[in-house]
Amino acid sequence: MNMPERIVILRLGHRPQRDKRITTHVGLTARAFGAEGMLLASEDKKLSENISDVSARWGGNFYVRNNISWKSEIRKWKEEGGKICHLSMYGINLPDAVPQISQCEKLMVVVGAEKVPFEIYELADWNVAVGNQPHSEVAAVAVTLDRIAASDPLKKDFPGSDLTIVPEKCGKKVIDNRNLI
Ligand code: SAM
Repeated sequence: MNMPERIVILRLGHRPQRDKRITTHVGLTARAFGAEGMLLASEDKKLSENISDVSARWGGNFYVRNNISWKSEIRKWKEEGGKICHLSMYGINLPDAVPQISQCEKLMVVVGAEKVPFEIYELADWNVAVGNQPHSEVAAVAVTLDRIAASDPLKKDFPGSDLTIVPEKCGKKVIDNRNLI
């Protein structure tokens, strides 16, 4: 199966006080499931720094770009041949959209917090529901990235990490790679 070579998340409607934790989880989940970065359409420098700190410790090149303009990012992405997948419980159910989405090379996955502007529905190549029931943007991102992946995202490597977990049946085993140098 094919899958997009590049995936970025666009997070809309983030309210720094209220959504701090959930937007952090959107970013960390996107990173863990193979996205290259997250564009945050709000000002929250602290949040982007926190995610960058995690990325620095746990490896890979995930980035967060803070306070971006969603309109110009979507326009640029489309001009460069990218596609837009907006996650909304009102959309086409994900299993029916995966065959098309997995064919594109560059995918922007849009998730909301508060009500998403209707323009997003019109700009999206696909409005996709992860099941047509309300739940969470974190779950929606995880399931979407898992379903469109060609290889298992849970087996992904994160090069250059300070820390590596050694899976254990019971207990917590972590190697500090900085001690190995
Ligand atoms: N009240 C908001 C509205 O009316 O649009 C939605 C709030 S919901 C918790 C926040 C985000 O989670 C949505 O914008 C959407 O991206 C995502 N989401 C929630 N349930 C979803 C579902 N079943 N499928 C896809 N995305 C979903």
